[in-house]
Amino acid sequence: MPFSNLMLSKKMQTNLKALGYSKPTPIQEKSIPLLRKGKDILASSQTGTGKSASFILPILENLPIREEKRVGDDRYKIDALILAPTRELVVQINNSIKRYSKGFPHKSVAVYGGVKLGGQVKEIRAGANIVVATTGQLLKHIKNRTINLSIVKIVIIDEADKLLEMGFIDDIRVIIKLLPKKRQSAMFSATFPSSVIKLAKSLLNNPIRVEIEGDISAKEIKQLVCFIGEEQKTALLIHLLKEKQAKGILVFVNSKRGANLIVEKLEEQKIKSIAIHGDKSQSIRDKALKDFKNGEAKVLIATDVVARGIDIKNLPLVINFELPIKNEEYIHRVGRTGRAKNQGEAISLVCQKEVTQLEELEKLLHIKLQKVTIEGFNYNPSLKLSNKKNKQKDIKNNEKLKKAKELAEKIMNKGKKSEKTANKSKKNSRHF
Ligand code: AMP
Repeated sequence: MPFSNLMLSKKMQTNLKALGYSKPTPIQEKSIPLLRKGKDILASSQTGTGKSASFILPILENLPIREEKRVGDDRYKIDALILAPTRELVVQINNSIKRYSKGFPHKSVAVYGGVKLGGQVKEIRAGANIVVATTGQLLKHIKNRTINLSIVKIVIIDEADKLLEMGFIDDIRVIIKLLPKKRQSAMFSATFPSSVIKLAKSLLNNPIRVEIEGDISAKEIKQLVCFIGEEQKTALLIHLLKEKQAKGILVFVNSKRGANLIVEKLEEQKIKSIAIHGDKSQSIRDKALKDFKNGEAKVLIATDVVARGIDIKNLPLVINFELPIKNEEYIHRVGRTGRAKNQGEAISLVCQKEVTQLEELEKLLHIKLQKVTIEGFNYNPSLKLSNKKNKQKDIKNNEKLKKAKELAEKIMNKGKKSEKTANKSKKNSRHF
């Protein structure tokens, strides 16, 4: 189906052609006409499938042109709102809007924490009528009276499950109350736990469910598992980094401390890498991602702060140094590679205590991941897929480990919070 069948203007079709898009992706094919007709939708979000355009294009086409220049407090009344869980995703969506909106009379602004409000206020005063925001910073602007939601016509919640998992439900409730009743709304989510359904009920009006066949187990991504002793993981990582010499390698870890530690260990081996996680300042996070995206930095060590939605072209390899704390996150991590029909490879380093989790992950994915051994890193003979007898033991150990990790994060964050109580927007970094 061509773009011309999706109720898109000639101007938009020209923009898409200039970007080299020959036809819509499945999520675009289903979502765009519904949103163009003014319907509310609840959509399964797939990673790297052109999801952002599926809501950005209808926003640009549906929003009425601002007839007169707004003055005074009316300058802060915005027309469309997009909420996303991480600063990186907010920036990326905002950049996509800029690419798609050539020739349209709408301007967007990225609203996220870790930076002063001033620059964002300036953009709103200069006429930005589409706000892409993290919830914390948006609420700051609302309190500051530098964003007003009273005439919003379209609202999108992207990565809804992640937003809820990060504990932003109260923020979202406050935001929804400030929106006008008459509006168009859409929600995108990777999973649909009861919390997401509940939120959908309070946000959406007679929503149409949009589902796309096929999943991230996208054929373009080769997913491998390498069993390894926990103490050998760093050595194996170094070996893989030296051997693969890929254009870009994204290594996921579960903690900020773990990310810093790996960077140090790699440095000892003269492998240059940069860490990205919630404790890094926004400017460092932005630069790290920019350098990685443009190929200046080859190895990025990241927590799940970049697992969702972040689009990195030509990323051939993702390494899971450890399986994520929540299995759903695996799907997002791995989805960073193999985007837009490129080939990609994902290798997960799995040690004994992660074996039970691996089995659960395979159940979630409905596939058995291919196991590989790397020369010089022999399969640990004590490592065997858990049988029923030691399964209970593994589960108990995993639970203990999870609790210990959560406690450690809490303690670390408590210390931080008292240092920086004023900086409430740091909320985003709480988990990563
Ligand atoms: P997204 O899932 O929105 O982050 O998009 C993933 C990547 O696919 C981005 O690099 C987009 O520029 C690209 N993309 C989106 N829609 C299309 C399309 N219809 N044809 C080709 N590439 C696309």
